Amino acid sequence: MSQIKIVDTTLRDGEQTAGVVFSKAEKIQIARMLDEIGVHQIEAGIPVMGGDEAEAIKAITKLGLKASIMGWNRAVISDVEASLRCGVDAVAISISTSDIHIQYKLQKTREWVLESMAKATEFAKKEGVYVSVNAEDASRTDMDFLVQFATIAKQAGADRLRYCDTVGIMDPFKMYETIKTLKEKVNIPIEMHTHNDFGMATANTLAGIKAGAEFAGVTVNGLGERAGNAALEEVIMALKYLWNIDLGIKTERFREICEYVARASARPLPPSKAIVGTNVFAHESGIHADGVLKYTRTYEVFNPEDVGLERQIVIGKHSGSHAIIKKFQEYGIEISSEVANELLPRVRALAVELKRPLFDKELMILYQDYLKEKEYVS
Ligand code: MN
Repeated sequence: MSQIKIVDTTLRDGEQTAGVVFSKAEKIQIARMLDEIGVHQIEAGIPVMGGDEAEAIKAITKLGLKASIMGWNRAVISDVEASLRCGVDAVAISISTSDIHIQYKLQKTREWVLESMAKATEFAKKEGVYVSVNAEDASRTDMDFLVQFATIAKQAGADRLRYCDTVGIMDPFKMYETIKTLKEKVNIPIEMHTHNDFGMATANTLAGIKAGAEFAGVTVNGLGERAGNAALEEVIMALKYLWNIDLGIKTERFREICEYVARASARPLPPSKAIVGTNVFAHESGIHADGVLKYTRTYEVFNPEDVGLERQIVIGKHSGSHAIIKKFQEYGIEISSEVANELLPRVRALAVELKRPLFDKELMILYQDYLKEKEYVS
């Protein structure tokens, strides 16, 4: 499993998110950052769209990155030709395999699907590029037909099969069984491409990997059509910390990259975003803050520096005295636990009134007021 390869499609599926457009400069910057952290393959866009899209892809192929650069195509030879003109070393050849797509969207037959895919694949292989054959809507495809499709893809020279849970209807248990069966019947490397419609994209990608898939298709922040894709940062950190598989990706740059893509896509990062949200290392409740201050592993699985975040002890309604003492120590002020306990109800009252935690300055003012009162009393 340590041979798992990361395929990032932020620039293709990510940009397909309704309302998202990247500029050429942003696309280049995102590709550079993905390459710098060690992503293996970057799906850079859809060359046949031409114009700015093709220009951006061309520019990315000229950067001389270590990562493989892939262009996305329909199973049409002229699409593949457009990819080749952009200088990519890899192509995705995509076609729907489910009856619902074949009948209602393509209005064709299964035979037509097999033939189109085989022709485009053979053409691309003759041109010497790496080929991923994408089974769009694979998760709603009849298993026997999917096996036939994968077999013919392999015969046509495909280097891997992209298993697309296009509408995100899989669960990890079903995914594991499906990929396992597919792997047993066809000896072809598989990429997981999962969508998050039921919040299971990351889990489904892991399930596929457990069943033998070798590639994880991801996007930064899980950006992508509708509810998005499996998130790059989630899949890599889950592999690293839940399964002890370190792919050597520079995870310490995750927050930086996620923030960049959040800005470029005008999709702000929610504070609770798994792995990179600002709340992931913010502790307020008395019991949690106390635990973390004594030993960080009590409530943290990895260090904030691992993903480029910082730990924050938040002083608010749920704080306890230990956190308050520590907060004052940050400013070189030693207070006793007696004083901390007297400050606590005041902190609580102010936090409730403001409906938020306190800024450090507010805490200091509260402390000064407390000291003044004490002077009058004594
Ligand atoms: Mn997709």
